[in-house]
Amino acid sequence: MSAISIQSVSKRFPNGCEALMGINAEIQPGSFTVVLGPSGAGKSTLLRVLNGLEASTDGSVRIGGETLGKGNLRKLRASVAMVFQQFNLVDRLSVVTNVLTGRLAHRSWVGSLFYLFRTEDMEVARQALARVGLTDKAWSRADKLSGGQQQRVGIARALAQRPKVILADEPVASLDPVASEEIMALLREIRDRDGITVVVNLHQVDLARRFADRIIGMNGGRVVFDGTPAELSPQALRTIYQREGMEHDNSLDLALAYA
Ligand code: ADP
Repeated sequence: MSAISIQSVSKRFPNGCEALMGINAEIQPGSFTVVLGPSGAGKSTLLRVLNGLEASTDGSVRIGGETLGKGNLRKLRASVAMVFQQFNLVDRLSVVTNVLTGRLAHRSWVGSLFYLFRTEDMEVARQALARVGLTDKAWSRADKLSGGQQQRVGIARALAQRPKVILADEPVASLDPVASEEIMALLREIRDRDGITVVVNLHQVDLARRFADRIIGMNGGRVVFDGTPAELSPQALRTIYQREGMEHDNSLDLALAYA
């Protein structure tokens, strides 16, 4: 059974923008998939539909065999953790408290409201911080950390949720090349060791090539490539990065530089 099954998913926003047009993909358990494409391709909308933050206009999404819908949104969301480009931490809270918010998916609303965490939650948070190499920063304020460290906290928060799937939306777009590399390696290692299914949105071809086992290329709300990094030819990159009506596109030059 697929970890995520995406069947004919379309998304039209109220302003008429067709962000997704008939997306189909089966994501296998324990796989590391990179969704690659230029800005505006629909990558972020796709990830938001996969964790129920955005409802699709057409088609369906199945997570672990269960169709995502209003009735089971909360339950399915607990098994799908998100990692964000801007980390989405609460700056003035400690690192460990930020990680503990990953446990909220498993708590009642009263517990959530008062940030009531159990001893077992603390243990899960402690383990998650150890996993991302930030044990010594547990009681630092989140905003005192570097960008790379803040993204590690974002990943620890995702791990504390004990998810089956991690969806990462441009997780390295705000980081320098060294930190980007480390974050991608960490996500990959989490997949390798914990068997968590990972889907990462990226626009950097070099990182996609190096870390993915599968690349889904998107352009204009459609899947225009689906294959292994070895299959990502210069021609495939042109298809992914082409822009309608544009003679010259810097992102294409950038992509081909790595081809
Ligand atoms: P990517 O992540 O690949 O940059 P997005 O999924 O963010 O692409 O956006 C895909 C398209 O959908 C873009 O044209 C964008 O302007 C549009 N879009 C995204 N979110 C909204 C929204 N909330 N309302 C209207 N249009 C949107």
